Amino acid sequence: MRDPFKALYIHVPFCAQRCKYCDFETCAVSPDDPALDEYAEQMAMEVRASAKDGLLDHVKTVYLGGGTPTFLGTKRLTQILYALSLYKSIGDLDEFTIEANPDSLDERLVADVWAMGVNRISIGVQSFDDDVLRVLGRIHDAAGAERAIACAATRFDNISVDLMCGVPGQSLASFEDSLHRALAAGAKHISVYPLTIEPGTPFFEMVSRGELAEPDDDAQADAMECAQAVLEAAGMHRYEVASYAFDGYECQHNIAYWTGVPYLGLGPSAVSMVQDDARRMRKQYDMIVEDLGRADMVAEDLMLRMRMSAGVDDGFYQRALQDLPNLPQIMDGLVRDGLVEHRDGAWRPTARGWLCGNELYGAFMP
Ligand code: SF4
Repeated sequence: MRDPFKALYIHVPFCAQRCKYCDFETCAVSPDDPALDEYAEQMAMEVRASAKDGLLDHVKTVYLGGGTPTFLGTKRLTQILYALSLYKSIGDLDEFTIEANPDSLDERLVADVWAMGVNRISIGVQSFDDDVLRVLGRIHDAAGAERAIACAATRFDNISVDLMCGVPGQSLASFEDSLHRALAAGAKHISVYPLTIEPGTPFFEMVSRGELAEPDDDAQADAMECAQAVLEAAGMHRYEVASYAFDGYECQHNIAYWTGVPYLGLGPSAVSMVQDDARRMRKQYDMIVEDLGRADMVAEDLMLRMRMSAGVDDGFYQRALQDLPNLPQIMDGLVRDGLVEHRDGAWRPTARGWLCGNELYGAFMP
């Protein structure tokens, strides 16, 4: 027995070019590489097989992520979405997101994926400063990013933009300018990520050789505060540590991840979360990559909920107490350290709690 999947993630592991900071499971290929056709065919078959097994029956959100899903092009995307639409009424989904990069977005593709039922587009812009984009090894420039957003807006209302802060050489003024340009371009949702240096990336090698400065924690904290000030002044609210949205534009798929909703992952490195009341497993197809018992599962739920401004409501807290009898001591400690506050019927992260995420989230782990 297991709880039904409510979210579907489809991983597209291809990009036009590898960015210097990226450690995602993706590879750079040419747009006519036969691997793209093979992938689309394989994914269409996986979607059909999952649907026939009843795994998609309760799915409410779909997320095509990557890599760069739009790099597949209209024909291959249509092949996958058509397979999905044969078994799932896409119009009944709460949300259907496609990730895009500015270099692979044109009006034809925007019109086609919108017509197939995609209703949210998330564009990896990272910065509107050409110097910062060059440092990151992005394939597009700022003008291209603005063109892509305008192009997305020919059909989509629900447009999200990803921005990065704490990039070596990026000034606070440059980051602030990017926030304003994302708003001016019409973004309804903005995600702000501090750069991290991951092993195995060109950035990691450059930092090791002393050719690139490590991201500065203080500069990243200043940028996160700047994002909050600018985006809240514009009318957005911060509903998750890295996510801002106008009311009604919060990402439902990501909220499912942060609230312990079971999800199905399809694609080479996608992970599924399978669970019932007593056990939670993360699986890559049949391989179990994580196996949590009831108490660890509740601890993880608490940690994930603390990413969100909604925090942990009193009802959830009371239920969690049955599995984590030391929860009051944990919360008291977090309140004493200024990382959590109890307000309006919920335990919520403070601004300091979000800044010191490792301390906050780590407190719940056994
Ligand atoms: S476009 Fe995204 S997934 Fe692709 S290499 Fe760059 S950061 Fe990684």
